[in-house]
Amino acid sequence: MRITNEHQVETVHVDAVVIGAGFSGLYMLYRLREAGLSTKVYETGDGVGGTWYWNRYPGARCDSESICYNYTFSEELYKEWSWSSRFPEQPEILKYLNFVADKFDLRPGIQFNTRVTSASFDEETNRWDIKTDQGDQVSAKYFITGVGCISTANIPNIKGMDNFEGELYHTGHWPHEKVDFTGKRVGVVGTGSSGIQSIPVIAKEAKHLTVFQRTPQYSVPAKNHPYTAEFLEKSKENYHSMRELMRNSVGGMALKYGENSVLDHTPEQRREFLEAAWEKGGWAVLSAYNDLLTNEEGNLLVAEFVRSKIREIVKDPETAEKLLPDHYYGTKRAIIDTDYFETYNRENVRLVDVKKARIEEITSNGIRTEDGEYELDVIVFATGFDGMTGSLFKIDIRGRDNVALKEKWENGAKTKTYLGLTTAGFPNLFMLTGPESPSVLGNMPAAIEQHVEWVMDCIEHLRNNEIEVFEAKTESEEKWSQHCRELADSTLYTKTESWYTGANIEGKAKGFPIYVGGYNVYRKICDDVAINGYDGFTLDSGKANKVI
Ligand code: NAP
Repeated sequence: MRITNEHQVETVHVDAVVIGAGFSGLYMLYRLREAGLSTKVYETGDGVGGTWYWNRYPGARCDSESICYNYTFSEELYKEWSWSSRFPEQPEILKYLNFVADKFDLRPGIQFNTRVTSASFDEETNRWDIKTDQGDQVSAKYFITGVGCISTANIPNIKGMDNFEGELYHTGHWPHEKVDFTGKRVGVVGTGSSGIQSIPVIAKEAKHLTVFQRTPQYSVPAKNHPYTAEFLEKSKENYHSMRELMRNSVGGMALKYGENSVLDHTPEQRREFLEAAWEKGGWAVLSAYNDLLTNEEGNLLVAEFVRSKIREIVKDPETAEKLLPDHYYGTKRAIIDTDYFETYNRENVRLVDVKKARIEEITSNGIRTEDGEYELDVIVFATGFDGMTGSLFKIDIRGRDNVALKEKWENGAKTKTYLGLTTAGFPNLFMLTGPESPSVLGNMPAAIEQHVEWVMDCIEHLRNNEIEVFEAKTESEEKWSQHCRELADSTLYTKTESWYTGANIEGKAKGFPIYVGGYNVYRKICDDVAINGYDGFTLDSGKANKVI
């Protein structure tokens, strides 16, 4: 339905508005449409893909094994698509998401090149009033965010950024055209997942590469390899068991954690065991033991194993020393790489420690640190994201009494949600992979499917029971947020500063807004809430309120 207000802007009325056309938004749209709800999806980019639309930097690839890095809701889709390798690159993942959009004819439901700027809950109508930067005004019963957990780039505030006369990029906003590094002096700032994936690829092409490292990171080899036709056939045959395994595992992937404590092994056994995990690659080291993230002594032993591998690989002892991390292993997102540490053996690569000699300024010619100036033609910021809340806070989301989400959560310090999906005072708002859900601690597509399916079941329940207003109770979210904090504090995660804790963003208040209890446990909790009549929520028929 279209309604024109006094300024002649048409207000479009739909059942649901979804933000984002990545893994979350695409599946949410599919389910809402299948259930017969009128739905509008708004997407800032000019294509589908979300994270995989924006992160086009060289070397970008998934770090979950690809046979799990896909939707499993459709057996037909699962069987139609074949991944080329264990950890495919970004263009292939983007192709997959385009394939999904085409297969289910999702594009007509998506408005591209449009950013949602504000959304406010109208207590008179019990609907969300949503506005976009293209002048759209939409009224929706359900407001669903699929904005991604790590999608707002952290571009550091370094003096002189505008003075640089060369090319400047951020890995999370990579151009669509190929960036040619041939014959150029390149500087990469940052050594998280994005830096570690891109550095080996850029080094091969550039004339010279300088890596500006503030904090060294652990990384283990991905051991990527092409999939054989037999392997793919078998994984497709095992579709049902694969789906079950993903749905009922700790990290949402076909991965089993070791049964032993790190301390159960003698030093010799441990070395042998970890060597085997190293050779297997991927998440094998992280999942080798059952207490890596809770046992301080055990964690340090595994961390020392990884450090010993770095010393083995990197030939120059001084460079190797600079590359040795000293935080607990796995407390920052575990990184898997292809020839990362080996890259420092190349003659055209130099490592600069910017913790020791800080970056002072970007000059017209390059980067000046306290130690001197590095002349560069290209600077790549692999400096990460304002995680978990950054993309939600970019939208002016206002609930009851005109309270902004950002205000309620005190800029991230006091994230309060119920189940990481909803928050009190913001009725009929669902945040897919929102703060205090397990999301980024495992395989995102699995987390997304679970959220979309839970939200869809919930909406069906509301419609079948003529419920107008669905809202988390304050006491439910207090309990949930406290539970999340207690769980996190019982692990080593909170002993390391990272983007998980908000430490990477200047001025951002610290917290740990992620549920660490495991995908499997979390799924059961969400299911039980639903089975028990949406325990912890207020379900109001709101008959007194007018709905246009
Ligand atoms: P990140 O892990 O936050 O790493 C950012 C890097 O930039 C860090 O080394 C950081 O140093 C450095 N940095 C930030 N500001 C700086 C400054 N002003 N001066 C110097 N150095 C600075 O970001 P990311 O690498 O983009 O990864 C973020 C997350 O995205 C990952 O943890 C992962 O969840 C996801 N991701 C996944 C994949 C994948 O494999 N599929 C690929 C890329 C990203 P400090 O550590 O000292 O802050």
